[in-house]
Amino acid sequence: MNPESRLFIDGELCEASAGRVYPNLNPATEEVMGQVADATPEDMERAIAAARRAFDTTDWPTNHAFRLECLKQLKAGLLDGLEDFKAQIAAETGSPLGICGSGGPQCEVPISFMDFTIGELPNFQWSRDIGESEMMGMKSRRLVEKEAVGVVACVTPWNVPLQINLAKCVPALAAGCTVVLKPAPDTPWAATLLGRVVKECTDIPPGVFNVVTASDPREVGEQLVSDPRVDMVSFTGSTAVGKHIMATAAQTVKKVFLELGGKSANIMLDDADLSQSLLSALGVCFHAGQGCAIQTRLLIPRSRQAEVEELLKTYFTFIEYGDPSSDSQIMGALVNAKQRERVLAYIEKGKAEGARLLLGGGKPAQLEKGFYVEPTVFMDVTNDMTIAREEIFGPVLAVIAYDDEEDAIRIANDSDYGLSAGVWSADEARALSVARRLRSGTVCVNGGNFYAADAPFGGYKQSGVGREMGPEGFEEYLETKTIAVGV
Ligand code: NAP
Ligand code: MG
Repeated sequence: MNPESRLFIDGELCEASAGRVYPNLNPATEEVMGQVADATPEDMERAIAAARRAFDTTDWPTNHAFRLECLKQLKAGLLDGLEDFKAQIAAETGSPLGICGSGGPQCEVPISFMDFTIGELPNFQWSRDIGESEMMGMKSRRLVEKEAVGVVACVTPWNVPLQINLAKCVPALAAGCTVVLKPAPDTPWAATLLGRVVKECTDIPPGVFNVVTASDPREVGEQLVSDPRVDMVSFTGSTAVGKHIMATAAQTVKKVFLELGGKSANIMLDDADLSQSLLSALGVCFHAGQGCAIQTRLLIPRSRQAEVEELLKTYFTFIEYGDPSSDSQIMGALVNAKQRERVLAYIEKGKAEGARLLLGGGKPAQLEKGFYVEPTVFMDVTNDMTIAREEIFGPVLAVIAYDDEEDAIRIANDSDYGLSAGVWSADEARALSVARRLRSGTVCVNGGNFYAADAPFGGYKQSGVGREMGPEGFEEYLETKTIAVGV
């Protein structure tokens, strides 16, 4: 691996001021893999100033054709380094190659998603003529124009870091914004690699794109999202931090775009073929449950509990984990020791509140290293228990019995979150009618998969504000201006 350890500020790859560095750890081995620049507030100050200057004084915001060329260069540069980037991301996220390989969301797939933006950009209607209006004898000819929002702070988490970095930075750059990317401390390389590729492979002008990695939780992140020169914050992370960022951004009325947590329900309607549909419950092991849209509440008909229990016991034996080099494993380690302790504390809470542990529940005895937690299933969960209400972000499934379809919909919607959901039924029309009643930004019917470059993704309720990906994910980074010309 040849990871980039430097910040990228104002067109230069640079050390942090005072030469500060911090270690990047591999969660699957607990080994330090290398050091990365640990930015100070002075570094962040330079990045914000550069982004502001680039937006205000270059033609980046208005030169659509140039931006398109730069995005093509960026994609080509990412593909050139693909094998190395894949290894870096697998190592720093602790996810096996089954997730980082060609079909998974960690590397290749999000790079290929750039084609959507590159393909849409030439056809985007930046200006539309809405014709004449007349008021009090005055005639006007009107134009509605789309323009870049300005300087965007992209603040991202560690679970699928390259995917989220790209899902924000690519549309922001395509729209003509300038960017300061502040990744999560645990996964710096998925951001620093972008600085290197932008520097070495693109004509993106100095200041347009900046990457600032830092170990210190809050300090430089807080500085970025509160700076008056920043016009918009695009954030993915926990709901608690999202609320704080929204409040901070309110001080200078920044635009905010928030992708937050989830507690998604997967509903097995009473006519579902459980032998097939219950395989979807294994999704809770995907990336050790570190995905905001993972369906962590399994809603089952009360009359079929025994059948569900037997199938889950069988199906969870299919989950193998602990070998990062495996391209068939989908479960890796949790990102750090603190996160593992947090997940284990939720498991204890589940037991204490009366849920019945069916499977797992602890650290795997067979693995000496790595922040792993066993695939864990709780039966007899009620929707008021902590493990049904709060996002655990670990491989923990809460199985909740319902009485009838109305009850299932009520339980699914009885959540502070509304990010994703699943519905299974032998009758597709019935499943669709249930899907339409769920207060959730995405719904998977009979195993459908919403995850694609052209499909908007985001949350209702406390799961967020706005949408990422698809045309909606591009338009988040645009302002609308109406020009009226007296005639
Ligand atoms: P987090 O603690 O909310 O942190 C996310 C990012 O925000 C990190 O870069 C963090 O950096 C930064 N940050 C924290 N406090 C900040 C502040 N006051 N001002 C500015 N930046 C701040 O989340 P996480 O633990 O990394 O990620 C897990 C969470 O993300 C889960 O809740 C998950 O559901 C959510 N998530 C949501 C989606 C989605 O699309 N909806 C996708 C993935 C993850 P520092 O640590 O340096 O502060
Ligand atoms: Mg790490």
